Amino acid sequence: MNIASWLHATARITPDAPALLEGEQVRATYAEFAARARAIAAGLRDAHGVGPGQRVALFMENRTEYLEALYGVWWLGAVAVPINYKLHPKEAAWIIENADASAVFTAAGTLGEAVRLPTGCHEVGVDTPAWVALGAAGPGPEVPALLDAGALAWLFYTSGTTGRPKGVMLTHQNLAAMSTTYTLDVDDVRPSDAAVYAAPLSHGAGLYNFMHVRRGARHLVPRSHGFDPGEILDLGERVGGLSFFAAPTMVKRLVDEARRTGRTGAGIRTVVYGGGPMYVADIEDALAVMGPRFVQIYGQGESPMTITSLRREVLAASEHPRWRERLASVGAAQGCVEVRVVDEAMADLPPGTPGEVVVRGPTVMAGYWRNEQATRETLVDGWLRTGDIGRLDVEGFLTLTDRSKDVIISGGTNIYPREVEEVLVRHPAVAEAAVIGEPDREWGESVVAFIVPTEGVPCDAPTLEAWCRGEMASFKKPKRYVFCEVIPKNSYGKTLKTELRRLLAEGAGRHI
Ligand code: AMP
Repeated sequence: MNIASWLHATARITPDAPALLEGEQVRATYAEFAARARAIAAGLRDAHGVGPGQRVALFMENRTEYLEALYGVWWLGAVAVPINYKLHPKEAAWIIENADASAVFTAAGTLGEAVRLPTGCHEVGVDTPAWVALGAAGPGPEVPALLDAGALAWLFYTSGTTGRPKGVMLTHQNLAAMSTTYTLDVDDVRPSDAAVYAAPLSHGAGLYNFMHVRRGARHLVPRSHGFDPGEILDLGERVGGLSFFAAPTMVKRLVDEARRTGRTGAGIRTVVYGGGPMYVADIEDALAVMGPRFVQIYGQGESPMTITSLRREVLAASEHPRWRERLASVGAAQGCVEVRVVDEAMADLPPGTPGEVVVRGPTVMAGYWRNEQATRETLVDGWLRTGDIGRLDVEGFLTLTDRSKDVIISGGTNIYPREVEEVLVRHPAVAEAAVIGEPDREWGESVVAFIVPTEGVPCDAPTLEAWCRGEMASFKKPKRYVFCEVIPKNSYGKTLKTELRRLLAEGAGRHI
């Protein structure tokens, strides 16, 4: 199984169908898309020595070339390593090194000037002659490389509470199972649809390409390369059939813009939301302003897109006696997975009792890249331990109550406190640091850092702000610093983040 065979098939069945669009402009038909993938496969092989199974990273903004590059990598049988383009170049370089990537696609081709890339890792700038040269290597292999279903397709870098990003190994089979389930449990996909990539392709949004390639639908990268609510509403009216993933904060901005401009989202067929908690008031508002265009999914990199879904018709059934409870839930288990809520011994808990959500099925990752210990801790007897705390009701609806991993979700993007803490404690003025999220109306959560200064060394917020700017992606930087004498710990010496949250709720640091 090679997921690129879906592109090959569609290009033969509907070669002239529009495939890649930038805004309203068609950049490639399916025949052209497949020809580009073939040529990139040949170029990676001949000019850069990349072979099947080797890793190729992508570190750039959303653009149509991103999809061409992804399919070039898979056509060759290599493994894609999409990296969040908002990361600091140093953080991207760490991932490239960890993945042992043989090549990296960037926009300008200048990553190698900002950081030292591993020896033997070739950089291809999509805006440089190196990209044009890739396609000149020849027509390339006529069909995508034949692979075992268990072959690696996507190394999805997430982070753990250990602070180091971990590479989630997704196989071609995982992606095929995820995509086929989508059409049963999330939404149907029609050739007249346009998948819009308004959220980063390196993350969940990138996974929407597969079912749309399979159905010969359009793939649209907005001209803004990101999420601009006004642009999306305009595209709905002009292009039609839009379907896209949006984090809850994006949904909120879209709904606000629709209301402000007196629109209802005409031409937007489906907004799939997830990735972080959606407040009931916000989804009710969204349904009132834009109508039944929404579907919720709950998944994680380790079981992409596929743990539960809250379907369109359930969201629309406002007459149902438990409608609001259902709106607060993440829906019911998707068709290809089994979902349980368990105690620490992995025993089932009765309905209504919170415990850890565990998942089993063909979408569950093969493990963490070169990290056996983390794999052993997360995949237990074939079950994926999600680290999320939730409860099931008697009808099978799952409600998430907490995240056991203390991940901060800001603007739909995960921020791992430990990563931020590790940067902070490297500053000589910082003796101790603990990072938590605080509720934020606009972003969902924002980052707050508790700091114990080193005795006798002057330390203030602007100094730490400047330090973080040089060391980490801007979205991870603390929005607020709270200086204190001690950080509360339990008897094992573990920081009590619940205590920090309580202090914050009581107003700690408000005067700073
Ligand atoms: P990631 O692996 O980056 O996709 O992050 C996955 C995590 O995001 C999950 O483990 C949950 O904690 C959270 N998450 C994903 N979908 C939802 C959702 N629909 N509602 C609440 N939290 C979610």
